[in-house]
Amino acid sequence: MAEKQDNFVIMLDQLYQQLNNDNDDSIMSKKIPNPQLKMFPRKVHWINYHNTVKTMNRDFTHFQGYIQNELGINTSLKNVLNMKEGIILHTKCRDKQLKSLLGKYYSKYVLCKSCNSDDTSMEKMKNISKLYQIKCNSCLATFNVS
Ligand SMILES: [Zn+2]
Repeated sequence: MAEKQDNFVIMLDQLYQQLNNDNDDSIMSKKIPNPQLKMFPRKVHWINYHNTVKTMNRDFTHFQGYIQNELGINTSLKNVLNMKEGIILHTKCRDKQLKSLLGKYYSKYVLCKSCNSDDTSMEKMKNISKLYQIKCNSCLATFNVS
């Protein structure tokens, strides 16, 4: 009986450790910047958006489309002539929400499923709409995502 209880406590400890790690964004490699956000009453300016997408080495339109789909919102470039000024999310949202979205995108479209490297590239599959091929530059594995 006592032994069972000990195991349970250990399990709980591990669970909490995992939860804490999640809060720490440990699934994302350190090089991906945290979102720098400027909040307005009904919109959010994601200031370092350009840098973030560049760091992930992904297509701007693809990532922008992903945000719009996942959050069900509209977005627009802050300055159409200069993408480096970031994008405007036409919604209220918290940086926690964006971080978890970024983490989801990262693990789905950036991380290699075989070796966990994030040194990957993504290309649109010819003739098949909305299907992409991700190629790992470390282990050379390829896989498809939609
Ligand atoms: Zn790999």
